[in-house]
Amino acid sequence: MPHTAARLRPFATSIFATMSRLAVERGAVNLGQGFPDFDGPSWIKDAAKAAIDQHSNQYAPLPGLPVLRQRLAARYTRDTGLPCDADTQVCITCGCTEAIAAALLGLCNPGDEVAIVEPFFDSYRGCLALASATPVPIALRPVVHNGRIIDMALDEGELRAAMARKPRAILFNTPHNPTGKVFTPAELALIARLCVEHDVIAISDEVYERLVFGGARHISIASLPGMADRTMTLSSIGKTFSLTGWKVGWVIGSPSLVTAARAAHQQLTFSIATPLQHAAAEALRREDDAVAELLPLLAENRDRLAEGLRRLDVELFMPDGTYFIYARHEALSRRLGVTPAPGQSPDVACCMALIDRGIAAIPPTAFYVRPELGASMIRLAFCKRRETIDQGLAKLAQL
Ligand code: GLN
Repeated sequence: MPHTAARLRPFATSIFATMSRLAVERGAVNLGQGFPDFDGPSWIKDAAKAAIDQHSNQYAPLPGLPVLRQRLAARYTRDTGLPCDADTQVCITCGCTEAIAAALLGLCNPGDEVAIVEPFFDSYRGCLALASATPVPIALRPVVHNGRIIDMALDEGELRAAMARKPRAILFNTPHNPTGKVFTPAELALIARLCVEHDVIAISDEVYERLVFGGARHISIASLPGMADRTMTLSSIGKTFSLTGWKVGWVIGSPSLVTAARAAHQQLTFSIATPLQHAAAEALRREDDAVAELLPLLAENRDRLAEGLRRLDVELFMPDGTYFIYARHEALSRRLGVTPAPGQSPDVACCMALIDRGIAAIPPTAFYVRPELGASMIRLAFCKRRETIDQGLAKLAQL
């Protein structure tokens, strides 16, 4: 990579792109990259088509279309109880990935530290490199009871130590990709207290906010005491509406924090596809309808995939939210007779063997500052048609 800037070389190809390419090449069942193999509701697609015909197709304003910002501001107030001014507190971005980039690039000076919970969504680390900022990792560690992973718990010692360094920000994701964990009220309260104590900004990536199952409840850290003015809340329409390719996301926060994100957004993309913003506003108007349609499928898929994996003796964390199951690959690696090549991580070796047998999964060591913490795990996506899950399970059963 002679032309690639040194700070980006380690992040030049994402594991998602690699596994999806291999899945297509090998005709594998893709339980890797987290995107649905079905489309979002047709009424939202119709709204986009109508917007192309009836509305402007020229640049939207830099912070986003007023109708979409107003809808998001009202939604934020509903969810957090906090006032929100659509003019100064919302910035529409190219998916949550740009929201992450805009938040970090808008906030950080070179050399700043940012605490991140690991495993993390892969772009966190790449964006920190873009911003010439340094990650300070805080582990989520499996808690095992009777042979089952009952939690992926925040390492409180690491959290306290990271926050005592007074980083510029703490960046984390709840509901959490890749583990499917939904952060508990106690964990969020502790993070919030430490943010206030050490004057740290929270960057809260909540893209799976509506995708929670059973009794689990998603809480925005912005709603906790002292956090309203020190939180950037990030999300998108991609997961909630099964429209991951639309890339409409946002940053919401105090005027001062959103000014920082807008300053970066101005240089990154400046503004987002106008007709899709109109359609996103329409989607959010009927958000509950879309969620009511999607959640039963996801919850059923989660149970189906988890049961199938357990039948194969795979130890896993039963997720409370998201698209993903985080599992130990040991039982699969044993069946496959995997021996990692020299220098190859066991999770990567397992996923390469799986793709040879027609199943794409994600090796998660790329989501760690300390890869050894994830070397025994793989991530499987269940945001798929039921037939796809069954095909994946049938292939796993043949191993
Ligand atoms: N969010 C998706 C996942 O976790 C990937 C998005 C991407 O490829 N950038 O699988």
